Amino acid sequence: MTYSIDKGFELGNQGKNIKIRKGDFKLKFDRIINTKSGYVCGVITKRKKNCAVANSTLEKSSSVDVNYFHELLGHFGEEQTRVIAIYYGVKLSGKFNSCSDCAKAKAKQANVPKGIPDEKRSKLPGERFFLLISSIKTRSFGGSKFWLLLVDDANGFKFSYFLKRKSETAGKVIALIKHLKATLNYQIKYICCDNAGENRTLEEKSKNEGLGIIYEYTAPNTPQPNGRVERAFATLYGRVRSMLNSACLNKEFRQGLWAECATTAYVLDNLDCSGNKKPHKAFKYLRKFGKIGIVTKKDKIKGKLTNRGEECIYLGHAKNHSGEVVLF
Ligand SMILES: [Zn+2]
Repeated sequence: MTYSIDKGFELGNQGKNIKIRKGDFKLKFDRIINTKSGYVCGVITKRKKNCAVANSTLEKSSSVDVNYFHELLGHFGEEQTRVIAIYYGVKLSGKFNSCSDCAKAKAKQANVPKGIPDEKRSKLPGERFFLLISSIKTRSFGGSKFWLLLVDDANGFKFSYFLKRKSETAGKVIALIKHLKATLNYQIKYICCDNAGENRTLEEKSKNEGLGIIYEYTAPNTPQPNGRVERAFATLYGRVRSMLNSACLNKEFRQGLWAECATTAYVLDNLDCSGNKKPHKAFKYLRKFGKIGIVTKKDKIKGKLTNRGEECIYLGHAKNHSGEVVLF
């Protein structure tokens, strides 16, 4: 306090909370810790890590620390982390330590519904999809408020869309159905979802398009038959929280970047090859979500004193695979 007053900060208070201020900078000591004789005020600061230049990621020839690989994969459990490493030919080293970002993120999940027993599952990839929309309290910086998730019953492969409005559902799902038919010759027979309005609209539109899909409706808030996708959401949200913890983002950024983080989480999830899953794409490189790095500026005219690069946060790969999504 004495130091900040010497440096020209103004000191003020709001009830018990002490604030210091200078120009645009404000710091509020919002933690009140009671002591025997009164109280002390504190503030929680975030540790800043990975502030070096972003280095490229995995080289198959050298080994990778298992804890680092766990972070790169978006916080899969230890067993899955090891299985995935073997599948993709990544050599792991070191001992798996319990991850504090996961401990905070994945504290016991209550009442996650059980999935359908294996023998009742579809055998044919693309035959049956489970569909569910999850709504988030705050909009992301890009305006997304809803997470639309589809899970393939046969192999657990996932497709995600981030929507501003639920009414975007039909357009996204119909485009996906056509894409899967054209590229993988999938003939989707069943979509299992609740009977919310946007799903009824989807059914109507797919009838109009002659797609020949049967919609199996479950009543809202009775998730049991739709357990597959409920469980997928629970797992993905756990990983999203771990990734946000690991990226040391403040509340505003956690909320603003949830859709970017969720995109990265579901893309990484599709690398999972445990159980009977067979991911069909090999990854070229991975970077840790939220890693801070330096990106070269592309402006043609640069001032002599202007930095050639700028600090940015890595958020994931661009959809068209042509680059990476970063935030300056
Ligand atoms: Zn973790």
